[in-house]
Amino acid sequence: MAEEVLATLQKVGAFRSGHFVLTSGRHSDSYVNKDAMYAYTHDLSALCKRMADLYRDKKVDVVIGPAVGAAILAQWVAFHLTEMNGRSVYSVYADKDGNGGFVIKRGYDQLVKGKNTLIVEDLTTTGGSIKKVVDAVRVAGGTVVGAITICNRGDVTKEMVGNPAEFSELAKVHLESWDEDECDLCKRGIPVNTDVGHGKAFLENKISPDR
Ligand SMILES: [Zn+2]
Repeated sequence: MAEEVLATLQKVGAFRSGHFVLTSGRHSDSYVNKDAMYAYTHDLSALCKRMADLYRDKKVDVVIGPAVGAAILAQWVAFHLTEMNGRSVYSVYADKDGNGGFVIKRGYDQLVKGKNTLIVEDLTTTGGSIKKVVDAVRVAGGTVVGAITICNRGDVTKEMVGNPAEFSELAKVHLESWDEDECDLCKRGIPVNTDVGHGKAFLENKISPDR
């Protein structure tokens, strides 16, 4: 299944090969651009159907994702769970609280309260966002039946996301990265990608390092 998921991510441009500068400043030959997947409704629906399938027997009442992107995932996963089980499943989302956390508002906290809640995410690097939503669901009085991400690229574990009943991913990705000094792609003169990641800033900084 992971191979098919990665093939889909590659097809929509969410998983790319090339020469990239990551947020950390390290260089890499691959990049996950999660935002790319949201433009392709059919592929996104298929990925969400896979997530729904893994939870079809878990009596999920509500699906929630951290805004912005994962709110769309929540919608599709809830839709597929509703179709599969013939029982209406809510889709809601958590907002950033302005202090680095997430909060469930807009009346969605009332939908989560006392309900079996599934948390969905697109890309997990540290597990931080999922953990904050797990916390927010618990604060709202919901039961976290599980958390699932499309792509786990940081070897994130159940413990790292606040110990929900289950934590899983559709695909695991291992991104190799290295310091600029050790970058073989730089040595070979392969141009740095400037569309995604920090390639543009990296190049600007190289031209005028004192800026
Ligand atoms: Zn490089």
